[in-house]
Amino acid sequence: MTTSDTIPTHALDIEKIRKDFPILQTKVYGKPLVYFDNAATTQKPLPVLKSLEEYYKTYNSNVHRGVHFLSQQATDAYEQARKKVAAYINAAYDHEIIFTKGTTNSINLVASSFGRTFLTSGDEVLISGMEHHSNIVPWQLICEQRNASLKVIPVDDNGELIMDAFEKLLTDKVKIVAVTYVSNTLGTVNPVRDIIGRAHAKNIPVLLDAAQAIQHMPVDVQELDVDFIAFSSHKMYGPTGIGILYGKENWLNEIPPYEGGGDMIKNVTFAKTTYNELPFKFEAGTPDMSGAIALGAAIDYIQQTGINNMQHAEEELIAYAYDKLSAIPSLRFIGNAKHRAGAISFLVGNIHPFDMGEILDKQGIAVRTGHHCTQPLMERFNIPGTVRASFSVYNTREEVDELIKGIAKAKKMLE
Ligand code: PMP
Repeated sequence: MTTSDTIPTHALDIEKIRKDFPILQTKVYGKPLVYFDNAATTQKPLPVLKSLEEYYKTYNSNVHRGVHFLSQQATDAYEQARKKVAAYINAAYDHEIIFTKGTTNSINLVASSFGRTFLTSGDEVLISGMEHHSNIVPWQLICEQRNASLKVIPVDDNGELIMDAFEKLLTDKVKIVAVTYVSNTLGTVNPVRDIIGRAHAKNIPVLLDAAQAIQHMPVDVQELDVDFIAFSSHKMYGPTGIGILYGKENWLNEIPPYEGGGDMIKNVTFAKTTYNELPFKFEAGTPDMSGAIALGAAIDYIQQTGINNMQHAEEELIAYAYDKLSAIPSLRFIGNAKHRAGAISFLVGNIHPFDMGEILDKQGIAVRTGHHCTQPLMERFNIPGTVRASFSVYNTREEVDELIKGIAKAKKMLE
């Protein structure tokens, strides 16, 4: 734990933090931008932007292949970034960190490579009713190929997983459990320790989709004892196009490569190819070097701010927003989980979420509307979509007040 982790929440100077994010100065329709679409992607602080610029200006070169100076500099920085990710999630080994294109890519890798190795006819994959499409469709694809079936842990009216049903679904047929740590639509924080504990009691591995957890709370893979986790850089203040798959060493050794190409091989002949060691076995082709290095800069930024401080500040802001939104007549929350992070979803009267989104947009307030890539969850609640406000460390109470005013205006116009 760093010293900054022990500083109480109020020690975070949010105005100072906001100055690190140049985009927050943007005006939208002449109004100050209020950015509440952080679950879709977060904004980027100056050190991340600087890292990208520096990479291309001073040491752009392909990694792992050159003996020349720049290639070695790029390789060192790229591998340093891997170490930063490993330290951030407390992985036992750096080679358990695989650079991918993002959460979607990471989950597809596991579904394909694990599925081809361990799934056979009659087996089951267990996911939950609140998964993002990227933790549904890759499993459907592999289940179809392997003649296996997909089972779903149901969600209750509060937007929480029904754990008794989970227990019943967790039979010997299940070969892997893949669930989200935090729901991108409802903000529900799932009881992942309990899920992992129960699955491991039956020797079933667990993949966590941590796309909405990694930027809001400390994630310690050894303490969780999780087998695989997936997350995206762009949702944790880093650039787009890069993400992480963490896998326990033994699992990564047991599953085959996902893609073939340069860097992932030890020796190639037309008769047979042998594969490189971890983590390169899973990193075919030229990786997103600048992206990985800038993700390292994003992790430095989070570490300097202190993830615990960020979590406390965000929890306070969400509680404030929840309180203020509760006072709006005809507003109903979609999802009322006891433990939540990041996002609040709601509907107001009969106002269509798109109409609400448009009116808020005209006031400079960016929220997301629609199904948030969770169509089965929308079906569960029997709604076409929600309005989702999602928060980050740089959001303020004043911005929440703007949102409340915006909703009042939309109500006046549309109800
Ligand atoms: N899972 C969750 C919970 C998400 O919120 C998202 C992004 N909305 C994804 C997966 C997919 O992430 P990406 O598009 O960065 O691959």
